Amino acid sequence: MDEPGPVGRESVSATRQIAPFVYEGRPQRVLFGPGRRAEAPEVVRALGVGRALVLSTPEQKESAEHVAGILGRLAVGHFFGATMHTPIEVTEQAIAIFDEHEADCVVAIGGGSTTGLAKAIALRTDAPQLIVPTTYAGSEVTPVLGETAEGEKQTIRSPKVVPDAVIYDVELTLSLPVQLSATSGMNAMAHAVEALYAKDRNPVVEMMAAEGLRAFASALPVVVSAPQDIEARTSAQYGAWLCGMCLASTSMALHHKLCHVLGGTFDLPHAETHAIILPHAVAYNAPAAPEAMKVIAAALGADDAAGGLYALAQSLNIPLALKEIGMPEDGIDHAVAMTIRDSYWNPLPLDVDAIRALLRHAYEGSAPAA
Ligand code: NAD
Repeated sequence: MDEPGPVGRESVSATRQIAPFVYEGRPQRVLFGPGRRAEAPEVVRALGVGRALVLSTPEQKESAEHVAGILGRLAVGHFFGATMHTPIEVTEQAIAIFDEHEADCVVAIGGGSTTGLAKAIALRTDAPQLIVPTTYAGSEVTPVLGETAEGEKQTIRSPKVVPDAVIYDVELTLSLPVQLSATSGMNAMAHAVEALYAKDRNPVVEMMAAEGLRAFASALPVVVSAPQDIEARTSAQYGAWLCGMCLASTSMALHHKLCHVLGGTFDLPHAETHAIILPHAVAYNAPAAPEAMKVIAAALGADDAAGGLYALAQSLNIPLALKEIGMPEDGIDHAVAMTIRDSYWNPLPLDVDAIRALLRHAYEGSAPAA
C-alpha cells in the first residue's frame, strides 16, 4: 500500500488573505425542522413569559389560529391585522390589544410584514418575540425595522428589535404561492450578494452568504416546479436563515438602496422589486468587487454573477421588468435622483448616467449590461 505523502506546499491551496474585521454575534434561539411549531409552548416558557399575543396578516389568520391552538392557554389574544410597511397606526391598534389582554410577549406567524409588526411592538413594550417565518425575507434575524408614519418609511437599526426566538418550520412555507416563493427567495439572495461586497463584511458572513446562495440556487427551480417538495422547501428555508444573517451582520449597498427607493416612491411590491433589480445591481458593482463576483458565480454554477442571477430569474418565470409590476416610465429620473441623494456606501461610486442606464434596463427587463 502506498504511504500517504507529506502535506507539502503543493498539496494545499494558497493561503487566503484575511483582512481585519469586526464580527458581532447576537443572542437568539433558532429551532429548525419540520413540525417544530409543536415546540412553541416550551420556547415561549423558556423566554420567561406566558401570555402571548399572536400576530398575522388577515390572509394568514388560519395558520396563526393553528399556532395559537398549539400554544393553548399561553395564547391570551390575537391580532390578525398586520400589513405591509408596518404603519404606526396598525402598531398602535395592536399595542392596545396587547395591553387589553395584559400580554407579555408576541408570537408572529408570517413574512416580513408580520415580523415587522412584532418588532414594532417589541420596540415600544420590550416584549420578547417568537417569530415563525413563512416567507424567505429574513427579517426574523435582523436588528432592522422599517416603519411608515404619514406615508414615509423610516428604517431603524436597534438590538431592541432582534427577535428572541425563531422557529423555522418548513411545513408552514408549503402554502407560499409559487411566484412569491421565487421572488422572496431572490430577495433573500440579495442580502447575501450585498454582504459579499459590504464594507463591513467578515469571513463568517462570507461563508454564510456563499452557502445561502448555493442553497437557493439549487432549491428555487425545484420549489417552482414542485411547490410541495419538502426537501427543496427545506433547503430554501435554510438559505433564508443564512441570507437573513448576512443582512443582520453587514451594511447593504446600491441594490438595497434602489429597492427602498422604488418600493417607497412607487409602492412597488417588495420581493418582486428585489428579484428584478438584483442582476442589474450586481452588473453595476462587478468591476469593483471581483472576489464577490467569483463567489456568486460559483454558487450559481454560472460563468458570470449578474448573468447567472438573470438566468435564474428567467428560469423561475417571475417578472423581469419593472414596467410589469407598476413602475411608471417617467419615474426613472426621479428614482435616479433619490438613489444618488442620501446614497448608501457602495463598492463603485454612483454615477448618474450609469444608474439611469441600470434602471432603464430593469424597466425594460433586458439582460444586465456587461
Ligand atoms: P409579506 O410578509 O408582506 O407577505 C406577503 C403576503 O404573503 C402576505 O399577504 C402574507 O400573509 C402572505 N404569506 C406569507 N407567507 C405565506 C405562506 N406561507 N402561505 C400563504 N401566504 C403567505 O412578504 P415579505 O416579502 O416576507 O415581507 C415584506 C416586508 O418585510 C416588507 O415591508 C419589507 O420591507 C420587510 N422586510 C424587512 C426586513 C428587515 O430586516 N427589517 C427584511 C426583509 C423584509
